[in-house]
Amino acid sequence: MNTTETIEAILERATNNTDLSVTDAIFLLKQQDPESISKIRQTADWLRHKQAGDTVTYVINRNINFTNICEQHCSFCAFRRDEKKRAHFG
Ligand code: SF4
Repeated sequence: MNTTETIEAILERATNNTDLSVTDAIFLLKQQDPESISKIRQTADWLRHKQAGDTVTYVINRNINFTNICEQHCSFCAFRRDEKKRAHFG
């Protein structure tokens, strides 16, 4: 079985309401060929449309922070400040 046949077989199962196995999912995630990725994207969009149609929704999520003093050091964060430094908002 070549790679293309395997991808098509997995995507066929997905479109027939069959849950994919972890092995199937990992196999799909590892694809790098643009044509294979396009097939996966088209199938995912088809499944999305089948489930939700063209309805678009969103969620508003607010987190109220009483301080920006934080002991964590998340690498992406530009919000936190050390306790001994002056708190900074904006
Ligand atoms: S994201 Fe910033 S404020 Fe939040 S836990 Fe990480 S370092 Fe602290």
